[in-house]
Amino acid sequence: MAGAEADAAGFSDLSDSELLQAEEPREAEEPRSARGPDGAGKRKRAQRPLDRCALRYLCVTGLAGQSWCEQQMVFGMEQPRPLAPETAALLDTGKSIHLARELEVHDLVKIPTTSREDCWAIKILNLLSVIPVLQAGGHVRELPVFGVIEGVFVSGIIDELCYNTKGELELNELKTRSRPFMPGKAQRKKDHFQVSLYKYIFDTMVQGQLKPDVFTNHIHLRPEQLLGCQLRKHAQKIGFMITSFGDLLELMHLNLMFSDIPGIDCLKIEYSHQESSVPLGTEVVPYEEATVKEKAQYYLAYWKGQREVRGVDIEEAWKCQSCGYSEICNWRKKRAEGLEKRNEPKKSK
Ligand code: SF4
Repeated sequence: MAGAEADAAGFSDLSDSELLQAEEPREAEEPRSARGPDGAGKRKRAQRPLDRCALRYLCVTGLAGQSWCEQQMVFGMEQPRPLAPETAALLDTGKSIHLARELEVHDLVKIPTTSREDCWAIKILNLLSVIPVLQAGGHVRELPVFGVIEGVFVSGIIDELCYNTKGELELNELKTRSRPFMPGKAQRKKDHFQVSLYKYIFDTMVQGQLKPDVFTNHIHLRPEQLLGCQLRKHAQKIGFMITSFGDLLELMHLNLMFSDIPGIDCLKIEYSHQESSVPLGTEVVPYEEATVKEKAQYYLAYWKGQREVRGVDIEEAWKCQSCGYSEICNWRKKRAEGLEKRNEPKKSK
């Protein structure tokens, strides 16, 4: 298996399976001449943060990052900074742990890519290769998921899916931590949202809602693009005769639609101490679709230019103390000024 994805939020104490994937380069905006006659409409669209950051899709980890601090997540996208050495070391170790777990269930094959369609074809082939395993009741790791939420393409990677003793399809997310205790409420809330989003997207995929045109309309991939020679050979080896990216999209849609794979029944997050590998605890996450949709709608509204960015609420101002963007954060400054004004002694008349 192989793939590509990015993480945007700067959490210093946690590793994540999505960090295993290489970041796909951001794509430049379309040249003006390719925009067609609707110039005014497009100019308006270009104001959206999605367009300003030249993003054609968002990652599940990024959306989950918004639930920690949206402003921090946006800073991370717009002004990425090198990670502190201890954070980089934590992530490297986390990646190795995830990779070792992935290698327990399948081999990794390196395939050269020559186009954006090749890069996305690898992700789709990774998805197609695990469908028979799930159909046979097996367990899979590093499963790519794609979907459209509120008109925005969202992509992620599920750490592990397996059937539990009750025959339910169970999602397991591993989080390794540098500190030997369970994370606090805010961190767990972010993690709950992350796995809930995975379930939401996975369930829509196995219901056959991931249509081929989603990839062409949202990420502007070309169905007529011929796939690379080695990629086609690899696809043939795992049972798929394909020539173009469009062939693969059709196969993906049909395979998902007729897969008979159930939706995810159970969501679990396992926290473990990175240095000692001691398990810290496992959380069973309750799933409420209406809440997940409502939260996703709220976070995506920022990216669609429907509201301004927000920082943390006053009750969570403690997050600012460890935030790498605190010195440039106007949200934090305004909140501090507001507090100062409130605490000023009232002048007697
Ligand atoms: S300083 Fe506080 S409000 Fe600003 S980005 Fe950081 S955590 Fe968010």
